[in-house]
Order: sequence, then structure tokens, then C-alpha cells
Amino acid sequence: MSGKLYVLSGPSGVGKGTLVKLLLKEDSSLALSISCTTRKPRKGEVDGRDYFFLSRKEFLARKEAGDFLETDEHFGGIYGTPRSFVLKMLETKSVILEIDVKGGFSVCRALEGTGVKPVLIMVVPPDLQALKDRLRKRATESEEELEERFKRVEYELSKAGEYDFTVVNDELTEAKRRLQQIIKQTQQGEV
Ligand code: ADP
Ligand code: 5GP
Repeated sequence: MSGKLYVLSGPSGVGKGTLVKLLLKEDSSLALSISCTTRKPRKGEVDGRDYFFLSRKEFLARKEAGDFLETDEHFGGIYGTPRSFVLKMLETKSVILEIDVKGGFSVCRALEGTGVKPVLIMVVPPDLQALKDRLRKRATESEEELEERFKRVEYELSKAGEYDFTVVNDELTEAKRRLQQIIKQTQQGEV
């Protein structure tokens, strides 16, 4: 394996997707793992770029075949990290998994004994109001779906202490800079 594996977690709407886009744009040694999901694509999302959008039947068949490092159900959809896709990419690049906390811990367990030790990074909002404002402004969920996402926030944030690093996404450029610093230091084995 030549790259490192980064798990980027944090509550829905905290800015993970926005930060990852910026990181990838500025560093060609990084790649994003594309998860599979059974949820419907949002406006503007593209199959094979944002997620691999699968039917429930297709997803369950691949799960049965052992094709996921982990899977979990959120907000009525199933999500999974594709095993062979991630391990293949790690041969040439450092790979970012943008997944929730439970998924992050599951990936760590699934990779025990393989020599791949994921670096766990939690992105947190400056405060809860900012998080709610961002999610509402993104305007991709119904009011009911938003409430579901808000309910999960406390749980996600309560696990920050078990992560290797916490990054506050207050000012976007500063959060991106801190992530780049963590990536550099961990790639060089400094921390
Ligand atoms: P996530 O991937 O964690 O669910 P997104 O990246 O979709 O979150 O961000 C949610 C919304 O918040 C988007 O509309 C995005 O433009 C906005 N956003 C992200 N980071 C910041 C920031 N530092 N300050 C203000 N708005 C932000
Ligand atoms: P969204 O529907 O907003 O894209 O994602 C909903 C939640 O699913 C987020 O917390 C996101 O991090 C999580 N998620 C995305 N991909 C995966 C995955 O492969 N596995 C797990 N466990 N969670 C995922």
C-alpha cells in the first residue's frame, strides 16, 4: 500500500463534502472513495461521482458477496464502503472515506491485521446553530429529513474524543488548511 486511509466524519451539513472537494482540487495524491447507497440521488448528484446509486436488491447482493468494508442504514437508505475499490486505490493514492462515526469504527475493525490503519478525523461545526443554518441553506432535504439529521448530531459529536483529530469548520479556508496539515503530517509519519 502506498497511500494512507483517512476517515472524515462529522454531522450532516458540517461541510465534509465541501472540504473534500477543496482538498482533492489542490492535491492529486488524494482520492475520494465513492460509497454505494440505496438513497435516491439529490439534484445535481451524479452516479459514480457522488455515490454509486444502487437498488436495494443490488446493494444486498453485493453485501452478501462480501463486497463492503462496512455498511449501515441512515435515514431510510443503506450506505456501504466498497472494499475492493478502496484497497485498489490505496495502491497508488491516499484515500478519503467520507462516512459517519459508526462506519469509521467498522472500517477500522474490518482492516485490523491488514496493515492499513485509518486516520480518523472529525469535522465539527463552530456551534449547533451554524450547523442547522448550513443544512437549511443547502436546501436538499425536506423538513422531516432535516429533523432526522439534527437528531443524529449529538451522537456524532459525542464520539469526537475517540477520533485521532478534530477540525472545526468555522472559516472554510482555515479548516481546509488544518486538514492539509494533518494529512501532510500523517503521510510523513510525524504524528
Ligand atoms: P456535509 O457534506 O458535511 O453534509 P456540505 O459540504 O454539503 O456538508 O455543506 C453543507 C452546507 O454548508 C453547504 O451549503 C456548504 O456550502 C455550506 N458550508 C460548508 N462549509 C461552510 C463554512 N465553513 N461556512 C459556511 N458555510 C459552509
Ligand atoms: P447523505 O445522504 O447526506 O449523503 O449521507 C448521510 C450519511 O451517510 C452521512 O452521515 C454520511 O457520512 C453517511 N455515509 C455516506 N457514505 C457512507 C458509507 O459508505 N458508510 C456509512 N456507514 N455511512 C456513509
